[in-house]
Amino acid sequence: MIVIMKFHASSKQIADIISRIESDGYKAHLSEGEERTIIGVVGESPTPLKQENYETMDGVEKVVRVSVPYKLASRQFHPHDTLVPLNGSQMGGNKVLVIAGPCSVEGRNEIIEAACAVKEAGATALRGGAFKPRTSPYSFQGFGEKGLQWLVEAREVTGLPIVTEVMDPALVPMVCQYADVLQIGARNMQNFTLLNAAGESQHPVLLKRGMSSTVEDLLMAAEYILAHGNTRVMLCERGIRTFEKFTRNTFDINAIPVLKHLTHLPVIADPSHGVGLSEYVEPVALAAVAAGADGLIIEVHVNPAEAMSDGRQSLTPERFASMVRQVRLIAEAIGRTA
Ligand code: PEP
Ligand code: MN
Repeated sequence: MIVIMKFHASSKQIADIISRIESDGYKAHLSEGEERTIIGVVGESPTPLKQENYETMDGVEKVVRVSVPYKLASRQFHPHDTLVPLNGSQMGGNKVLVIAGPCSVEGRNEIIEAACAVKEAGATALRGGAFKPRTSPYSFQGFGEKGLQWLVEAREVTGLPIVTEVMDPALVPMVCQYADVLQIGARNMQNFTLLNAAGESQHPVLLKRGMSSTVEDLLMAAEYILAHGNTRVMLCERGIRTFEKFTRNTFDINAIPVLKHLTHLPVIADPSHGVGLSEYVEPVALAAVAAGADGLIIEVHVNPAEAMSDGRQSLTPERFASMVRQVRLIAEAIGRTA
């Protein structure tokens, strides 16, 4: 249920609604718009929620039942786009932001070189995994905390904020000390302990769609983070498993406008994992921007043939720079910038 307050309802009226919600045994979540406040009522309680009782309270415009299970992630609860600050810009705003870097952090010099190259081409943030979720336990697993320290050095040189994956809930506080944005990978999208830890951290989160998850599963995963009062959540479409084997995954272009419709959270596209073949990354990136994506996350490697992971889908800095130029043209064509 959501309680929509009247235009400029007083803070006393809002506080009274919150106390009523809490005395009924539920949790209140506030969405403060410029003109009005919307109060989300979530949780379970033996006291049934009586819509009429809330409707008669002072300052209430109307009370609406939210039919979807993802209450806090829904547009009904928060009609305006959520903006997540990133390097002086905002993910979810008019500017399409590009996060780029190698799949894995491979060394100090390597990550600094990659960071300089993507910055030069116009990236807003640097990606790079220090903890890698690999299908095989024998594949390179990442440099761990050492990798995070190298990322920090790359940030000091370039000023680019760091987006990096965390796989273990116990490591969330440690990763938060280095990272600007926590990435939760496709394989961990429904690791509920991890989602709770990321929610509690209050750190910005980039949440990737599981490879066999529906759009609703993704929104329910985001709901876990939001339920802790952490509203800085960005969703990422990164391709799903289908019968098609030519490409690594099938990038679900539909998910972009569908998510933009269902949720207020920023939507990012990852065409690198979506197609898995570097020659198709640019066209899919452009399609995602045309479909309304707020941002892109792109794997870039100075020497893809030598990459320790995902070299086949990594762009060289030159190809990345040319992709960014095309992204700008598409963004301008639909009234945005990049
Ligand atoms: C990655 O970003 O390198 C990665 C492992 O992505 P995903 O979780 O989408 O597979
Ligand atoms: Mn990768």
